[in-house]
Amino acid sequence: MKKMVLLVLLLLCITGCEKKDEKIEGIIEKNTNTVISIHYPKTRIRKLDKAITKYIQEQHKQFKKDYENNRSISELNIDYEYHKNGNYYQIVLITFISSNDLINPIYKIKTFVFDADKNTFLTLLDIANEKDLSIGKIKQELIEDYKNCISIPQLEETFSNLNTLQFTFDENSIVLYFNPDEIMKNNYQIIEHEIVFSKFKVHFEQQEKNQTVQYQKKERDLDVHKPTIALTFDDGPSKYTKEIIEILNEYDANATFFILGNKVEFYRETLERSLSYGNELGNHSYNHKYLSKLSVEELKKQIELTNQIVQNTLHYEIKYLRPTYGSVNQKLKKNSNLEIVLWNVDTKDWKIKNGKKIAEKALNDIKDGKVILMHDIYKTTLEALKIMLPELKKQGYQIVTVSELKEIQKLRNAEK
Ligand code: ZN
Repeated sequence: MKKMVLLVLLLLCITGCEKKDEKIEGIIEKNTNTVISIHYPKTRIRKLDKAITKYIQEQHKQFKKDYENNRSISELNIDYEYHKNGNYYQIVLITFISSNDLINPIYKIKTFVFDADKNTFLTLLDIANEKDLSIGKIKQELIEDYKNCISIPQLEETFSNLNTLQFTFDENSIVLYFNPDEIMKNNYQIIEHEIVFSKFKVHFEQQEKNQTVQYQKKERDLDVHKPTIALTFDDGPSKYTKEIIEILNEYDANATFFILGNKVEFYRETLERSLSYGNELGNHSYNHKYLSKLSVEELKKQIELTNQIVQNTLHYEIKYLRPTYGSVNQKLKKNSNLEIVLWNVDTKDWKIKNGKKIAEKALNDIKDGKVILMHDIYKTTLEALKIMLPELKKQGYQIVTVSELKEIQKLRNAEK
C-alpha cells in the first residue's frame, strides 16, 4: 500500500510566461439542485481540443442526467493538470462528484497524451514499445505493491486493452492512473503509480526562469464625499479579463478580482498588468469547489494553495476571500485567515448573459457604498461594462477596489 497516493492538486508544471495561444476554458453554473465548476485547457491543437471537449461534454451531460433531479445539492468539479514538454502535451482531467446521496465522493481520472509533431495520441503501448518496457513486469509490480487490496481479475480486465490505460510520462518515469473501481474493490480513490526508468530518455525543454516584476502602484486620487462603489469580479481570470482591465483603466476605475488558483499561471501577464493598473486580487479557491461543504483539510488546501501560487507567481499577498457559490458557514470562517468579502448588488451577469440587460439591472441597483458582483468570464459582462462605466462616471461615481471602499468608509465614519 505504501505507493498508493491519493491524487492531490499539483502545481502546474508549465513555464512561467503567459502562453499566447493556450488558455483555460471555464464553466461555472449554479442551478437549483446542482453546482458545476469545470476548467480545462485549450491547446489550439484541433485534434486534442476536440477530444478534451468531447470528454468534458460527456461528463457534464451525464452528471446533469444523474443528479439534476436530486433533492439535495450535488456538485460536479472537473479540474486539470497541464504539462507541455517539447512536442508532448499531457493533460490530466480529474472529475469530482459529491452529493448527499453518495457515501463517498466519486473521483474519475482521464489522461490525454499527445504528440504534436505526429499529430497523434500516444498510448502506454507506444511508450512501452519505445522503451522496451514489459507490460508483464508492470502488472507484477502492481500485484506486489498492492497485494492486500488488488483484484487480479480486475487488473487483467484493465490491462486487456492497453490503449485505454491512463498515464503521463516524463524523462524519468511513467505514472499510471487507475480509476477507483479499475484494479481494486471497495476503493473510492484514484490510484497513482509511478514506474521509474533510468534509461528513459526524451528531450525536455528547460523550464524558463520566472522573471520578477515590480508593480508601480498607480496614484489614486479618491474623494471621501463622492459616491463610491467597489466593483468585484469572480471566477476569472479568463480570455476577457485583459479587455476588462483595459476598459476599467480607461475610465479610471479599479476593481477587486477574486481569482481561481488553477488559472494563475496561464494568465500571468494579464494579472501583472491588472496589478500595475491598481486592481486588487482576492482568493476564490483553487478550482471552485464548494468550499463550505469541504473537509477542513480540503478547504485549507483550496485557500492556501491559491495564496501560495499568487505569492510565488505574482509576488502579491492576498487579503480577501470570496467563498465559492457565496456560501459561508462557521467551518469556513474558522479555517480561513483571510477576511471574507461578499457583495450587496448581484448583477446576475452569470444568468442574464445580455450586455444591455446586465447594465440596466446593475445601474438600477447601484447605490453609494455598495459592493457589486460580476464575473470576468463572460463576453456579455465586458459588453455590460462598456455601457455601465461611462454612465457611472457621468453620475459622479468613483469605482474602487474593496480595500479602497473600506478605507473610504472608515474615513466617513471618522467624520461622523
Ligand atoms: Zn464563483
